[in-house]
Amino acid sequence: MEKMYVEDLFRFIENSPTAFHAVDTMKKKLEARGYTGLLESGNWKLEAGGKYYAVRNGSSLIAFRIPKADFKGFQIMASHSDSPCLKIKENPELKSEAYVKLNVEKYGGMLCATWFDRPLSVAGRVVVRENDRITTKLVHMKSDLLMIPSLAIHMNREANDGYKYNVQKDMLPLYGMYGKRESEESRQTDAAGMDFMGMIARETGVNADAILGSELYLYNRMTGSIWGANEEFISAGRLDDLECVYASLQAFLEAEAGCSIPVHCVFNNEEVGSSTRQGAASTFLADTLYRICEALGMTGADYRRALASSLMLSADNAHAVHPNYPDKACPSNRPLMNRGVVVKFSGNQRYTSDAVSAALFCSICGKAKVPVQVFTNRSDILGGSTLGNISGTQVAVSCVDIGLAQLAMHSSYETAGAKDLEYLVQAAKIFYESSVEETGAGEYLVEHCIIHR
Ligand code: ZN
Repeated sequence: MEKMYVEDLFRFIENSPTAFHAVDTMKKKLEARGYTGLLESGNWKLEAGGKYYAVRNGSSLIAFRIPKADFKGFQIMASHSDSPCLKIKENPELKSEAYVKLNVEKYGGMLCATWFDRPLSVAGRVVVRENDRITTKLVHMKSDLLMIPSLAIHMNREANDGYKYNVQKDMLPLYGMYGKRESEESRQTDAAGMDFMGMIARETGVNADAILGSELYLYNRMTGSIWGANEEFISAGRLDDLECVYASLQAFLEAEAGCSIPVHCVFNNEEVGSSTRQGAASTFLADTLYRICEALGMTGADYRRALASSLMLSADNAHAVHPNYPDKACPSNRPLMNRGVVVKFSGNQRYTSDAVSAALFCSICGKAKVPVQVFTNRSDILGGSTLGNISGTQVAVSCVDIGLAQLAMHSSYETAGAKDLEYLVQAAKIFYESSVEETGAGEYLVEHCIIHR
């Protein structure tokens, strides 16, 4: 089972080089299971027992099921579809000597060194004119297309003494060469071959002149790997946060109907602060939950009552203790890979977990027989943030920050524990099947009540 999930995760990651593809991969899985896509511009008619999903700007997705009877609240698991990478700028070709490089900029806080000396390719979306319509096409180049070569040690003897990368100078990927050709005609053919957007258009099956807009990113071509003395580790690109996205979706699909509405929620743009139309700071989740209540004939007060009996998991990977840097971890809370789901706490509430939300989640993990460990930053290290506290300003439900312990966060090739994925799927499945009711001041009833269909 453990390996089956890992191999399925690797397929999910390979099919999801960008947030747009992650949403497309999820849509295909949901539609194969009978889910209906809802347009935000459409009129939502939701039926008891119905299965639905909505997408905002092609890169954030919320899926949910309507129960056959009354429900108590929402069981929301939120994760993010984006990962740090290099974004290709408009008019990208830069000629230097006989080389053609592409002009790129950073998307998110990446570990720059991990993007050098490995095959890279391009994915994203283009928006094209088709007759009188404007339509979106996904772009996924499935060949080794680009490389960012290091400078030889002989030309920078201090390379191993710490290096500050300048994206504009050091990280422009090499795309091709235009040679010295004899005839004017072959020179022109050469130049045409170097037209990057022309190549993208050809490969995507659209007319280059019809492309009106594009968002294209580099991705690491290395596929997932299971490794270690006992195959206890997994490595792949974008584990942060596609591992949580995958676990959330898998558990959502496996879960039986309970007494709450299960909500699988994936936001884009976590890596750049979440404040976009489709990010966690947006109204996407609030709008969706409100529209569910509205379509079921509920009042505004009913909606707010449902929120008070809801629980949200903000699922984003956590830092495992690093084998070479054990001093970087908090002295008393030291998550390890393969030891279970991590609950994250932060005194300044950069993580949403509090005594109540953590207790509610731990009781669910107890039911799922999944071990729980705790992450806190060293008190002298600021640490990262994630989407839970940002989303909480739009949808104020009790929330707990969780994740799986991993190494090399924001590397182009990250490492996690082979066993933990199954732990998270198990915990999330019981979470989706449960309901959390506020029964008094500071009193809650957590029920795992499967309604057999
Ligand atoms: Zn993340």
